[in-house]
Amino acid sequence: MMISDLKQFLPGSPPSPYGIPLDIKRDGAWGRGFLTDDVTLRAVGWLGDRVDCIGDVSDSCIDRLFVAYERSLKVSGEYRGFHACEVCSGELQHNPGGHVGPIVVWKERELSLIGDGHYLIRFERTVYMAPALLLHYILDHQYRPPDEFEKAVIEGRFLTADDLVFRPSMLPPLSYSTCTRLILPKGDG
Ligand SMILES: [Zn+2]
Repeated sequence: MMISDLKQFLPGSPPSPYGIPLDIKRDGAWGRGFLTDDVTLRAVGWLGDRVDCIGDVSDSCIDRLFVAYERSLKVSGEYRGFHACEVCSGELQHNPGGHVGPIVVWKERELSLIGDGHYLIRFERTVYMAPALLLHYILDHQYRPPDEFEKAVIEGRFLTADDLVFRPSMLPPLSYSTCTRLILPKGDG
């Protein structure tokens, strides 16, 4: 899925790259997660099948992304299955040694990534939405995100579902049905 870097979403847009509500659970009840009204949502790192911007990324930015991933400082609520890297061509790269998702190695640190959920990083009045595979794009495909995003990663705050505005929903999560469709073999749905 390709979204241009720094694409700005309309006010009130759900903090989801899929354009559907972000279903989250709070105190045992389903609802929808929204950003507060005082921030602008921008996308970063949704590459699609090619890398348009290549270059170096600072160690401090990579370190922050490592720590955030290790601590699960991201949101996940879509139940749309796992997002695979579209840049990688071979099964070996997708599933090295039978792992689901890529393994990134950096300065003797290793992390097994799963394309589930996404980062929401707030800096001042902007929230950047970036894919869970971002470290793979940076370390394995030399993707270089925009400067303002790098600054946000280093100086900003990684949001989780607990940081979102929660609006209870009477309906079951939309994405359950989407998920069911996704896992059915073609022709049976
Ligand atoms: Zn890849």
